[in-house]
Amino acid sequence: MKEFRVNAKGAFKLKDVKADYGSGDKAETKEKLLALNKELEMLQEQLYAEHKHKVLVILQAMDTGGKDGVIRHVFEGVNPQGVRVAGFKAPTPLELDHDYLWRVHQQAPAKGELVIFNRSHYEDVLVVAVHQLVPEKVWCKRYDQINDFERMLAEEGTTICKFFLHIDLDEQKQRLQERLENPDKQWKFNPDDLKERKLWPEYMKAYEAVLRRTSTDWAPWYVVPSNKKWFRNYVVASILVKTLRGLNMKYPKADFDPSAIQIDGTALP
Ligand code: ATP
Ligand code: MG
Repeated sequence: MKEFRVNAKGAFKLKDVKADYGSGDKAETKEKLLALNKELEMLQEQLYAEHKHKVLVILQAMDTGGKDGVIRHVFEGVNPQGVRVAGFKAPTPLELDHDYLWRVHQQAPAKGELVIFNRSHYEDVLVVAVHQLVPEKVWCKRYDQINDFERMLAEEGTTICKFFLHIDLDEQKQRLQERLENPDKQWKFNPDDLKERKLWPEYMKAYEAVLRRTSTDWAPWYVVPSNKKWFRNYVVASILVKTLRGLNMKYPKADFDPSAIQIDGTALP
């Protein structure tokens, strides 16, 4: 899975990652995902029980890229009490009156928590840069600010994994078309998405800058080929499981002697 990690020092190029890449057999890969779902369920329980680490998963993608699909399929089986999803839409007037990390920091995970960001502070160097919502001299400072912010979170015990779900222009067209034609999917169609679609090259440039400048040792980016949903889900689940395994979590030891306790009775001699 290392192949999908953006090298912190490299001159990353988005066009070197093929959005329609997928290796392995589809049915077999789906089976493997089920095993990963089970393991993730166990790891999340340990995370909660141990109450030591904090885990932050950041999902970014173009419209229809599959953020919702990843949340649904990768976390299938995980105790809903154990994960929290924080979505970041266009900021409210109150949020705009504060610095851009104000609303983000409030949603960062606490000890024992796994939080998924559905969009994130990266919008503040993506949509904001593409539409020049603030002057360039303001947003261009944000890459370093974001790196500093994430380093602080990491140094305070947060494990951060960032995923860019990479689809191509043709795949987006197909997915939008499907939403348009299928009455059960029309609710997901947003005519405004077509305006953003026209800005695809600008968005790719903005994503490339993000991936080059903010993939760090403490908060790496993974670019996931996402045209094939089964491959996308498998890659994200594999990386997450591997990262969580690396925390070497343990169920806490009892601070009492279990053999000295009898339920509904007096202690054994
Ligand atoms: P869906 O897949 O359901 O469409 P979504 O994440 O695209 O989910 P939307 O409500 O369609 O949700 O879009 C949220 C919008 O909010 C996006 O267009 C995004 O660019 C915008 N947004 C998020 N953060 C910011 C920000 N800081 N400044 C401006 N716009 C933002
Ligand atoms: Mg949308």
